Amino acid sequence: MKPSRPETTAPADADARRAVAPVICYPPETLPAPDMVRYRAALAEARVADTTLVSPRDAACFRVRAGQMFRIVSVEGPQVGDLNLWNAHDLSERFYSGKTRALHGTHLSTGDRLWSSFPSLRPMATVIADSLDWYGFDSFGGSVHDVIGTRCDPYTGRLLSGGDYHHCCHSNLTRALATETGLPLTEAEAHVHDVLNVFMCTGFSRDTGQYFMKASPVRPGDRLAFMAEIDLLGALSACPGGDCGSAHSNDTATCFPLRVDVLDPAPGSMDGWQPPAPNAYDRSHGAD
Ligand SMILES: [Zn+2]
Repeated sequence: MKPSRPETTAPADADARRAVAPVICYPPETLPAPDMVRYRAALAEARVADTTLVSPRDAACFRVRAGQMFRIVSVEGPQVGDLNLWNAHDLSERFYSGKTRALHGTHLSTGDRLWSSFPSLRPMATVIADSLDWYGFDSFGGSVHDVIGTRCDPYTGRLLSGGDYHHCCHSNLTRALATETGLPLTEAEAHVHDVLNVFMCTGFSRDTGQYFMKASPVRPGDRLAFMAEIDLLGALSACPGGDCGSAHSNDTATCFPLRVDVLDPAPGSMDGWQPPAPNAYDRSHGAD
């Protein structure tokens, strides 16, 4: 945090320096645009091909082929979900939360893409429907579906409270990936990464810049839907924080399940569509 009483005296032109207007780092207009007309048509008459119910304080994996869709649905009560995505054929290509944040902002909604790690750096999924898009940003600066948090984990819990809690999202995702792939737990853990916080309401406090959470506005029936741009292995954890309105990393919050539906697109709607190619940078990095 910034000191409330700085040790350094401000220069004479401090106000002028602060008054410099910001520029957007990555204007999204220059990104390849998703074909939202096609994607909406695919979703309009989509059929449910598979359904996975994620138990509270646990995680489950699901698989989606490129050109299929998936949606995360609130059932029974307000609940936050932590989402990991991998290339189904190569776990080293995984969701890159930080770059997605740099490209689309702190919180995602319809039309935003979930980008993959280097060197592929391509869209893994595109948000195609968001029933919480009405929320916008509240007066605290909070919003839903963030890419600013990481995932609750037992290591940070240990630092802060001294105890061991085994049902943080990090551990839930680790167990689910190990079960799905047959990898040993420690190998699976290395593939777990920073998440998309589905339905979670978060922000940075305006005065101190601290990460905050507040009770999610999600209600049963709310959904966040995605087009799978490549073949995906996904894992979703139903966070032990429940609606994340008070505590996490323990068993005190009321938790609910989450449902993941995999959807086949409307017949013919994805004909001729191709998954995005990996990034074209030649990886020579200026070396001789
Ligand atoms: Zn969590």
